[in-house]
Amino acid sequence: MQIVLIEGDGIGPEVTQAACRVVAAAGVKIDWVKAPAGISAAEQFGDPLPGETLEMIRRYRVALKGPCTTPIGKGYQSINVRIRQGLELFASVRPVKTLPGIVTPYEKVDLIVVRENTQGLYAGLEHEVVPGVVESVRLVTRAAAERIVQFAFELARHHGRRMVTFCHKADVMRLSDGLFLECARTVAGDYPFLEFEEKPIDNVCLEMAMDPSNFDVLVMENLFGDVVSDLAAGLIGGANPSGGLGLVPGANLGNRHAVFEAIHGSAPDLAGKGVANPIAVVRSAAMMLEHIGHGVSGARIERAVIKTLEAGVGLTRDLGGVGTTATITEQIIKNLGA
Ligand code: NAD
Repeated sequence: MQIVLIEGDGIGPEVTQAACRVVAAAGVKIDWVKAPAGISAAEQFGDPLPGETLEMIRRYRVALKGPCTTPIGKGYQSINVRIRQGLELFASVRPVKTLPGIVTPYEKVDLIVVRENTQGLYAGLEHEVVPGVVESVRLVTRAAAERIVQFAFELARHHGRRMVTFCHKADVMRLSDGLFLECARTVAGDYPFLEFEEKPIDNVCLEMAMDPSNFDVLVMENLFGDVVSDLAAGLIGGANPSGGLGLVPGANLGNRHAVFEAIHGSAPDLAGKGVANPIAVVRSAAMMLEHIGHGVSGARIERAVIKTLEAGVGLTRDLGGVGTTATITEQIIKNLGA
């Protein structure tokens, strides 16, 4: 089976290689087709996301991606936004769960953030009106709003979840979130067997900081989803300096294509040192295996990660250990048989 591998920037090559090793050790034979993206691609091809990379994902349908660096406020448009928009990967799925061996104030967090991935303030529709005045358009369409809420309900149904929470700010953004909320209510009507609640995004953040264990599946627009998924990750990371960033996996899904990636960035401070935590990318690869029909192997990898955290051997620094990317990868591979 051929799957596209985008190694990305910074720690990307180190953590994606670790994930490939774990997938191979789990017995799934994948022919990884490397595709360029990121700063190195910009240097080599003059574009951080060469057209051939998008073409390869279109051809092979599925990709595992490492993080790509995006310069702030200058240079090129985010590669991630271009991939998500270019391939119509309309749903971002980020499962956040309490993990063993990591002490947090909350013991039973098990939530999934579903984020609309192509519109909202991240649609990239910005312009300078006059010098000193800029405008960003917050795009919401009925079709995209209904599609993402329906996706969240279907995901909840498929995974046997209890409740879907729609997060919004419709009291202030009356038109854009007003439309989104109307769509959410309509779609919720088709799923009477699942609980539905609608909550202002600021209340959601407050409740999440106080007790995230009450949440189940959350669905929201693009910017809110970006912020809330990092917030949620921070709540399961214990005292780790990077919160749970090295732990939380993610998927960008469309009707035809799928790109799996960790929620963390390229961590330039750790790049090339061999100390980055590969767990988030390993778990993203496990999600990918489930997506391509190798759910048993995906579940086996997830169990091996849990065992590794429980045993506490070979852990990277962000998890309070003294190990490296290589030592924790070895432990995960060893625990595949446990
Ligand atoms: P970051 O996630 O790269 O790093 C934040 C902190 O978490 C740093 O201290 C870092 O060392 C730590 N960290 C991150 N991943 C880790 C891991 N696997 N193991 C151990 N520690 C880890 O966030 P940032 O510094 O804001 O962003 C750096 C670059 O990454 C930026 O250019 C940003 O645009 C890009 N970025 C890319 C993606 C993506 O490609 N999906 C996502 C987020 C950020």
